[in-house]
Amino acid sequence: MDEKILTRPNVYDTGKVCPKCGGHIYAAKILIGGNTVEFKKPCSCRNAEIMAEDAEKRNLRKARAEEARRRWAEIPDMFAGAALKGYRRMPGTEEAFEAVKGYLTNRRENFAAGRGLILIGAVGCGKTHLGCAILNCALEDGYHAAYWNVPQQLELLMPGNADTNRRTQILDKALLADILLMDDLGAEKSSLWTQKELMVILDKRYRENRPTVITSNLMLTDGELRATCGDRAFSRLSSDHFQAVALTASDYRRKQGE
Ligand SMILES: [Zn+2]
Repeated sequence: MDEKILTRPNVYDTGKVCPKCGGHIYAAKILIGGNTVEFKKPCSCRNAEIMAEDAEKRNLRKARAEEARRRWAEIPDMFAGAALKGYRRMPGTEEAFEAVKGYLTNRRENFAAGRGLILIGAVGCGKTHLGCAILNCALEDGYHAAYWNVPQQLELLMPGNADTNRRTQILDKALLADILLMDDLGAEKSSLWTQKELMVILDKRYRENRPTVITSNLMLTDGELRATCGDRAFSRLSSDHFQAVALTASDYRRKQGE
């Protein structure tokens, strides 16, 4: 390696030796805009240090970016670490578990095509855990994922309930997230206003191919979900962008605590 350096005309041995590795320190003089500038060539140990420092900086930048995405996602603390691995599979949840697993296996294609899931089941059957597992996976991959509790966020969006900044933030999240979990759709106090807001969100996401994962305890088929979201939003949910799966396990949370 050293010989190779010496064959280059403007690289020379400075006569100095690295106190750590004992390697000779080489330098090169380069003419920049009429001035000669000397560049020291790092010895092999310093070179390794520089590479390690760069790798550390890259990791730090990546961790900071993920941290910023996590804050923006606003996943509830109890689901911050939700993953498929920690999901307790019980009778009645296998189909949904497999659907989410398959969805995540092909997540890049699914996200790009705007495909989403509708997880239907009673309160406490673990559907929010599955939905948040999707968000956590997406965050790790670098996507801007977001959690959106439908009744709570709609309440905050109502004029007078939050300041303009907060309302803009909540609506932006729903409209712009690369992948959005709309948790507990149908639990909101339905009105023409909530139906219109849901329509705006679901329609924009549908048209822009942004994937949405929905949890609900209302069935798609018995008309309740249609009644609460309104016909137009419901037509988006019934489109081929969504695959619906039901969870029938009774009280997942209680059984998990046993
Ligand atoms: Zn050295």
